Formats: sequence, structure tokens, C-alpha cells
Amino acid sequence: MSIHDFERYPLTFGPSPIHPLDRLTHHLGGAQVWAKREDCNSGLAFGGNKVRKLEYIVPDVLAQGADTLVSIGGVQSNHTRQVAAVAAKLGLKCRLVQEKWVDWDDPVSDKVGNILLSRIMGADVRLDPSGFDIGIRTSWEDAIADVEKEGGKPYGIPAGASEHHLGGLGFANWAYEVAEQEKDLGVFFDTIIVCTVTGSTHAGMIAGCAALEETAGGRPRRVLGIDASATLDQTSDQVARIARHTAELIGLNRDLRDDEITVLEGWAGEHYGIPVASTIEAIRLCGRLEGMIVDPVYEGKSMAGLIDLVASREIGRDSTVLYAHLGGQPALNAYSAAFE
Ligand code: PLP
Repeated sequence: MSIHDFERYPLTFGPSPIHPLDRLTHHLGGAQVWAKREDCNSGLAFGGNKVRKLEYIVPDVLAQGADTLVSIGGVQSNHTRQVAAVAAKLGLKCRLVQEKWVDWDDPVSDKVGNILLSRIMGADVRLDPSGFDIGIRTSWEDAIADVEKEGGKPYGIPAGASEHHLGGLGFANWAYEVAEQEKDLGVFFDTIIVCTVTGSTHAGMIAGCAALEETAGGRPRRVLGIDASATLDQTSDQVARIARHTAELIGLNRDLRDDEITVLEGWAGEHYGIPVASTIEAIRLCGRLEGMIVDPVYEGKSMAGLIDLVASREIGRDSTVLYAHLGGQPALNAYSAAFE
């Protein structure tokens, strides 16, 4: 089996764009910095990393004859917004559990941004007071059971589509896509920076890069995950588990080494969803220098990590770094107070 043997239902425009961040590179004075843009990868409700994951899950949804996608996330979840968009596109119903993952006191946070978009797309949005957790949730299992009781045929997609047996494939394929784009661009990205929370984006990249190295003679590269939820042990365990599972699915003939699974801490602050000073500085810097918008929950934190690692030369001057921009901008609408 290889990644190419899995069915992929097209939801993206094709390969997501890669471009250099020249002014940020100049400002940091070290490694060359580029971005690959999952924030504009699809016409479905602003796209994002989950659309890629869902491309490998939708064939299973259709094979099972489901009529309702059931998923879960925080109130401002990007994931649930992308599930709602995919359900709309496929003509399915959508039930979403939106938990209170973030103690962020904004009067409109349950009305604007991602949750507004999900409502517009016709999802049945249910608010739930439970706090942050990337694991399997009873509220989500209950929602699946409710849809069944009501006579529907539910298909459950867990938080971030990570604890799904096919959840790592989208970003395993991303690694192959990068390798093709490198040939056209005449560059090699020795270091990838990616935000990690529920884990399957980072895990898929690790598995994909390892398989690429093994089967296509690809050069080794580092995939550095930046923790954005201050739950390092749980996140690292989840990334390792999903990476090993995905590697097996796509036919890697060896176990992944522990040194291939790196989740770095230091930029999450103390809580998921709460931006800290370095997050806000990173958001402003990217906006000012590149006109590139990153969000306060995920990408602002991974960008803060990139900025420090490049500026401190922990990523060396001779490196070429690829920043995986995973989307997430709609949540900014709930964070206006951070920029007043
Ligand atoms: N960046 C954005 C914008 C996200 O919506 C998410 C989702 O959780 C992530 C990063 C982290 O991805 P993952 O949950 O696969 O670790």
C-alpha cells in the first residue's frame, strides 16, 4: 500500500500555493522562509487543513451511505466549520457540538467567525459547556446516538478529524505534493514548521516525509510541530500514535524513530485559545510585512515559534524553511479586543 492507493474525493483547488516570505526573511536575517497556504486551498468556506483531511474521509462517508456528518470542536472551531462546508457540498446534514474550549470573554465569540459560517451553511449547531480536550468526547458520542435515535444515519468525525483511522492521510499526501512543487521551484525545504493541537496534520506530514524518503529517495527533512494548547504530553502522544498508524497505512517498512516526532513548546502560553504577547506580535508582524493573516489560536502561535527559531539561529542561516499555513482566520472576529 502507498498513499496513492487511497481514494481521494476532491475538495481542494489542487496543490496549495507555495511562495517565499521575502520581507519576513529579510527582517529575521537568517534562514529563507516560505509558506504553503492551506488557508486558500479550497472554495469551501475559506478552506483550511481539515478540508485536506476530509478528502480522504469522504469516500468512507459515501461508502457507508451516511446522511449526517457529526463532529465536535470549540465554539470557534475551524474544523467544525470545514465539516459543515463539506456536508453542504455533499448534500448531507451536519450536527456540530461546540464546546466551551476557551475561556475568552468576548461577547460575540459564539456569534461571529467560524460558528456564524457553520450556521449560514445550515449546520445544526449545539453549544456545550464542556472544556478543552483533544480526546474522544461523550458529548460527541451522544450527538451521534441522538442522530441515530432520530432516524438519521450519522457519520462521526472526531475533533480535528485526528482520531479517525484515515485522519493522517491528507497531510501524508501533502508531503508528496511539496516534493513535486520543490522540483518546479528548484528549492528544497529542509525544515517544516507546523502548528499542532489534535495532531493528525503534523502526524501525517511525519509519516509522509518518512515514506517519501524511503520510496522516492527523498532527502531527510525536519518536521517541527509547534504546540498551541499547552498540553504537551497528550499532544506528543497523540502525534506519535497517529504518525505510526499512518506510516503503517501508507506502507512505510520501518518504525518511526522518536527523533522524527518533535513537538516544541514555548509559544502556547498557558491555555489553548488564549493568545499571548508573542502571538499578537507574530500576527502583527506577518500582517505588516507580508499582508499574510494568521490567527490568535493556532497559526499566530506557530508563527511566533518560527520567528524565534529563525531569529535565534536555532534554525540555521543556510536553512530553507516551509511554514505550513493551516488556515483559521475566521476566528479573528472573536478576538478584536486583543488588537485594540
Ligand atoms: N491550525 C489551524 C488553523 C487549525 O484549525 C488547527 C486545528 O486544530 C490546527 C492548526 C492544528 O491542526 P491539528 O489539530 O491537526 O493538530
